[in-house]
This record gives sequence, C-alpha cells and structure tokens, in this order.
Amino acid sequence: MSHTVLQAAQPADLILTGGSVYTVDAARRCVEAVAVRGGLIVAVGFAHQLRDLIGSRTRVVDLAGRMLLPGFQDAHIHVASGGMQQMQCDLSAAGESRDAYLEAVARYASAHPDREWILGSGWSVAAFPGGIADRRDLDTAVPHRPVFLVNKDGHGAWANTSALERCGVTSDTPDPDDGRIERDPDGTPSGTLQEGAMRLVRDRLPQTTQAEWEEALRIGQQHLHRLGITAWHEASVRPDLQAAYMTLAERGELTARAVLALLWERPRGDEQLAQLVERRRAVGTGRLRAHTVKFFQDGVIGNYSAALLDPYVDAESRPTNERGPSLIEPNLLKRYVTLVDAAGFQVHVHAIGDRATREALDAFASARDANGRRDSRHQICHLQLVHPDDLSRFHALGIIANLQPYWATNDSYIPILEGPVVGPARSASMYRFAALQKAGAALAFGSDWPVSSADPLDWIEVATTRMVPDEPAIPPYLPDQVLDLPNCLAAVTIGAAYANFLDDETGTIEPGKRADLVVLDRDLFAPDAGPVTAARVCLTLVDGQPVYADPAFDW
Ligand SMILES: [Zn+2]
Repeated sequence: MSHTVLQAAQPADLILTGGSVYTVDAARRCVEAVAVRGGLIVAVGFAHQLRDLIGSRTRVVDLAGRMLLPGFQDAHIHVASGGMQQMQCDLSAAGESRDAYLEAVARYASAHPDREWILGSGWSVAAFPGGIADRRDLDTAVPHRPVFLVNKDGHGAWANTSALERCGVTSDTPDPDDGRIERDPDGTPSGTLQEGAMRLVRDRLPQTTQAEWEEALRIGQQHLHRLGITAWHEASVRPDLQAAYMTLAERGELTARAVLALLWERPRGDEQLAQLVERRRAVGTGRLRAHTVKFFQDGVIGNYSAALLDPYVDAESRPTNERGPSLIEPNLLKRYVTLVDAAGFQVHVHAIGDRATREALDAFASARDANGRRDSRHQICHLQLVHPDDLSRFHALGIIANLQPYWATNDSYIPILEGPVVGPARSASMYRFAALQKAGAALAFGSDWPVSSADPLDWIEVATTRMVPDEPAIPPYLPDQVLDLPNCLAAVTIGAAYANFLDDETGTIEPGKRADLVVLDRDLFAPDAGPVTAARVCLTLVDGQPVYADPAFDW
C-alpha cells in the first residue's frame, strides 16, 4: 500500500492517525492515517508510513480508534428552507398531532405580536384524516392574523380564514391547472391548498428579504456541518436564493460546497434557457456551482398528485379514473430536457409515481438521441414507484437514482396515507433500492431536508434495516430491499459526489483530493458499534479546516 503515500518533500499540516480510515476508494480500502497539506490529502496509509511527514509544526490528531470517512454529501436537499423553518413557526418537533400544532402556532403568534403574517412549516399530513387540515382549527389558535403553514413534504399548505380572505381565495376561485383547493361540500375553501394552489397565498406574502435568505443559509449550513456534511445539492433554486448563496460565497461564509439546481419555471417556456445559462455563468466554479436544472414532473401520492401508470383506487380498492397529472406534458418535457441537455446542464427531475419516472426516462432518451451521449449525469429523485420494465433503463441511459432512504419505512405515510390510495400491490413495491442497484443504477443518497432528517446516519440506518429508527415494534418495510453498509456509505460519499460532479476532488480519501473529512466517534463496522444512529460526529473538515468540532473531542 506504500504507493498511496506521496513522497512528500514537505511536512504535513495535519495528520489524523490511529483510526479506522474508510477510504471509499475503488478497492474500499481501510487504513489508519491521513496526511493533509494546503487543504489537500497528500498521503493515506498506515501510521508508520506517514511518520516521515510529521514536522515541527504538524498537528497530529490521535483518532483513538474512531472512524474517519470522506465528508458526507447530500444529493437532494433544501438548505435554505431548512434554515428558514427554524426562523419561522417550526412545527417539525410537534410530532403528528393536530393539537400540538395548534398549541405551537398559538404560542408562536403570541411570542411574535409584531408579525403581520404567521408563517411556518413542518406539519405532517399524517396528523389529519385524508391529509387535509382545516382552516377553522387554525382560526381557534390565531383568529385575527393570517396564518400560512407549509406541510413537511412541501406539497401542500394549511391556511386560516384570515389568510384565505386576505388573498381572495373564495368558493368562486377556480383550482389552478397544477393544484387543488380542498373545499367543504358547499365549495368554500376548507383550509388546505395542494401543490400549485399554494401560489394563491404564497404570491401575496411579504417577500423574503435577501438578508433573511442569507441567515437561513447560515443556520442550515451549521446544522449540516454538525452532521458531517461537507457538500450538498440545493434542489430547487430561484434567483433570490441564488443571490443569497453568491453573497455568502463572496464573503467567504460558504464553508461547504454547494451545487445549485436552478428551478425550471413551469409557467414559462424555452425562453428561460438564456437566463439559466447566464445564472450558471454568474456563479462560476468555486465552492458554489450551478450546473443543474430542476424539473418537477409530479407531486406526491398522498394528495393524488403523483403521476401513476395505473389509476388510484377508492376505499374498496377499486380503480378510479384518476392517474395524477403530469406537471409537464410528456412531449414538452422531452423538448425542454433536450434543450437544457444541449446547453450542457445536468437535469434533475422530481418523480414519485411510476408514470412520472417513465416520462423522465423517456425525456432523457430523447435528449440522448438528439444530442448524443455525454457525461451528463442526469438524475431522477425520490423514485417511490418505478415500473419493473424501467429499472434497467437507469443503467442503459446513465441516469442516477437519487434516493431519499429515510422514507422507506412503515411509518404512517405508507400504511395510513399512501397504501389506501394506491392499493396493496403498489404499496408493497415502493422504494425498491436493491432492485435499482441490482439493475445497475448509480445510487446517490439525499435527505430532502426539511422534509425529513438531514442526518446521513439516519438515512443509512433506514437503508440498511428498512426500519423506523428507535421504533423496534414497527415491522420493516420490504426488508428484501435493504442495502449493505459499504454501499450506503458509498452512496453518501462518492455516489453523491458523482451526482454533484464533485467526484474528481471529493468523495473518497485519496491523495490529491480535497481534505473534506468527517470523524465519527466509533467504527461503524465494529461488531459492537450498535445501531448506526448511535454514532456521533466528532469533527467535520472542509479543505482541511474545521467547520464543526464536538467540544468533547480533543482536537
Ligand atoms: Zn426536494
């Protein structure tokens, strides 16, 4: 293994030694020590091999058996929304209880008497029958000020009567093409706005200021560094958020690598391409990049907005007439994806249903036919339902399966909300990660935070067990679809780095790569390691510099 040690003329700045260094290189080697100089990894090997690199000013850190890994990367996340959730009325800690939400909203409103609007997020549709929340409940908590609360998955929102009145949403307001106003039997809006119907209120809210976005990013970034994350893919970016990222990067406050997926705006057409190209150019190629365009092709199953090949079912499991809308007409999607691909962008498509997934694959095939094969690394995220015939197309077309493993459990979503509307066969064939891998798909993991936990150890725990963490009584969901620990660790390091176009400089521990590293308090492969979620992050480094250190870690 001595060939991995560069014959370095100068001493290292930093040597981390005496640990279990899981390199995630092609051979998946495990060594003991890493040397860093000038922010780069200069040597990897066993302790005695790196001894010559210790100079008088080298900081030598004894890992004492802890595990050292490439910094974790999140291939699909909304960092700014996650940070913003913590700045507004945050319901994510109130469980799945209507009463707890109402109490939290009332408490927040009285603590913020100056806020004209009560804005927040993080409630779960699983707390309400059919996933539909009622404005009258919110009126009891906050009667006189408008309240607008986006749910945890971001595909619906809960508004009180004051908010609906102020925005002119009445029984006369038609549903938009890409959304639905839930209504009482007499047509009066009942308080839940699905998908595109959220714009009826959202477009009239006070604008988020650039300073607020920057603060949200700082909060989100700190949260992620604590979890060992050193790079991410911000999955849906409008110009105002891009401006906040660019300001942070210019000021040197961006301590992670971030790839921005620029949102394709559905109400617009081809003419937006020139702006996307200009936005990519403006960002450049430092820690911040913007080489991706994001399309939404469907919504989520629970509100019937996922695009399915076969119809949704009714309460007696009989097929209905509803298959869920394609948010972009499939031929138009082909055209847009081909256009964006020709401009050299990576394309990232949101697809939950099997029809949306197929439409995305068809669009990628069209783009390849028109533009030829290139290193495009297009990806489809979520992939809750994939038709068996489409599994092999990921490998054939070079499409990355961008997975959110934390969702693949028997928590309330699948048994209570989704199973009843898709029927037993489909509710027993979701999130088939092992099948995708077996079919040759490249895998990258992401959280979709703040939809669900940003902690990569949580995702790995679910991906390796298909169990809800800390809920041993709930049976595993499709346990034959588990992935093993080495493959999961690859999907949160080199797999996500590949999806982020950062694999040439990060994602593994190898000489010449950037020293983006994470130290865990235990070796996850040790027989007595316990559940993955029991591990703690001790230290996170980006370019060899600490961006998080546990105060208890002697560093
Ligand atoms: Zn997302």
